[in-house]
Amino acid sequence: MREIRNFIAGEWKSTASSIDDVSPATGEVVAWVPRSGQAEVDAAVAAAREAQPGWSRLSTQERSRYLLRIAERLEARAEELTNLESLDTGKPVALAASMDIPRAIANFRFFANAVLHDSPGCHPVDQSAINYTLRKPVGVCALITPWNLPLYLLSWKAAPALAMGNTVVCKPSELTPLTAHALADIVRDVGLPPGVFNVVHGYGAEAGDALVRHRDVKLVSFTGGTQTGAKVAEATAASFRKTSLELGGKNPTIVFADADRAKAIEGAVRAGFTNQGQICLCGSRVLVEQSIHDEVVEGMTRRLAKMRIGDPKDPSTQLGALVSAAHREKVEGYIKLALEEGGKIAHGGGRPRLPGPLANGFFLEPTIITGLSSKARAATEEIFGPVVTVHPFDDDARAISMANEVRYGLAASVWTRDLSRAHRVAAAIDSGMVWVNTWMMRDLRVPFGGMKDSGLGREGGVYSLETFSEARNVCVAL
Ligand code: NAD
Repeated sequence: MREIRNFIAGEWKSTASSIDDVSPATGEVVAWVPRSGQAEVDAAVAAAREAQPGWSRLSTQERSRYLLRIAERLEARAEELTNLESLDTGKPVALAASMDIPRAIANFRFFANAVLHDSPGCHPVDQSAINYTLRKPVGVCALITPWNLPLYLLSWKAAPALAMGNTVVCKPSELTPLTAHALADIVRDVGLPPGVFNVVHGYGAEAGDALVRHRDVKLVSFTGGTQTGAKVAEATAASFRKTSLELGGKNPTIVFADADRAKAIEGAVRAGFTNQGQICLCGSRVLVEQSIHDEVVEGMTRRLAKMRIGDPKDPSTQLGALVSAAHREKVEGYIKLALEEGGKIAHGGGRPRLPGPLANGFFLEPTIITGLSSKARAATEEIFGPVVTVHPFDDDARAISMANEVRYGLAASVWTRDLSRAHRVAAAIDSGMVWVNTWMMRDLRVPFGGMKDSGLGREGGVYSLETFSEARNVCVAL
């Protein structure tokens, strides 16, 4: 049994009460997590506030070197982190090894370098004046992250926040605290000054809420559900504190008849089911040109039938467990709802039978539902599990209107060999990101974020440097 502790002012701190951390693959308790409240949040914010001036006075190069050392330590401990992430989330160890941990390392490396190459604007006014922009740290940043990509998303926020001279208080998901704890250990190892990086564990409604309401927190970067995002926005709006919100999605995968079918089918499966469909970018609405609808459904079904679902620790496993019993019930509720709304199950729909301790895990078969109206609740609400609905369309205009008829606008993928159609459709979809003939191909320089109910603001590359700083213009008369 592991005991997770808060990390405040460079020291490990326990709390009086704790939360059980459950392994999704077996239902066993694997760790105790601090159940923090106002007192722990106050202590962490005070530590971050005290450390901030000193941290921001370091040269950019010095801060960059700290981040590079964190990346090195993450790399040295990659295997251990991979196993922790898989244990905590139920995701296949192969996925944690190929995506979560390498991306976390890349995030620290990328922002350690990006900050050295930052060049905020300069605006000369003929011979009369010159304007230049300074990017100043904002202060104490609250970084609140979900359970689906724990270290990946925490590093996505922590690296640019620290690089820009801010100090941070992190509140990881209470369901997946293990790698945030390991990151705190690494931060201690590399000798980051006490108070620069703090972690407070606990429930969202307790620790999370206290953190976002704290007046000494000057910026909140939140990734999680849309409903929670609305609460966070409410808590920060009246005091005009910077807020970045990365929220839910219901992303279309649009397959045209002229697409490379094999690649499109493989792409639709990857987009639908990677991480058991628990990635905000997952393509859970597959929109297919009528003439190839059955072919795509059959192709996806054939691939899913061959997918190995089971022990996340087995390197050959492709689909692991859902994060919790409650979450699996929510996803199953949507499958039931889809059937009530007139859908048919083309594949999956039930719980797989698995041997030994895995029988108590929160597994669910990858599921394809057809025959549902594209306006049905199951086709428009975020399920966040291994469930996709497939809908036929007749022409480009209908494909675009179906893609846009949901409240979300995070990501989309478009599969076609027609170059001008690809550009036209990509430009017409109301979402922050569109991939053409690929899915989740990430470049850390590009803007990442959503429109509509998928969030507010953009992070990534220079957008993160802007998010985690205050731009100040200085105008000098010549
Ligand atoms: P969630 O909203 O339940 O929780 C996210 C985090 O917020 C957790 O750390 C939680 O403890 C905390 N929290 C909960 N209530 C809070 C409150 N009142 N005040 C402050 N913090 C609070 O989300 P989840 O179930 O952990 O994650 C799944 C959701 O995250 C999905 O909707 C998914 O689409 C979204 N997500 C979005 C992105 C993106 O980049 N847009 C990435 C990953 C996940």
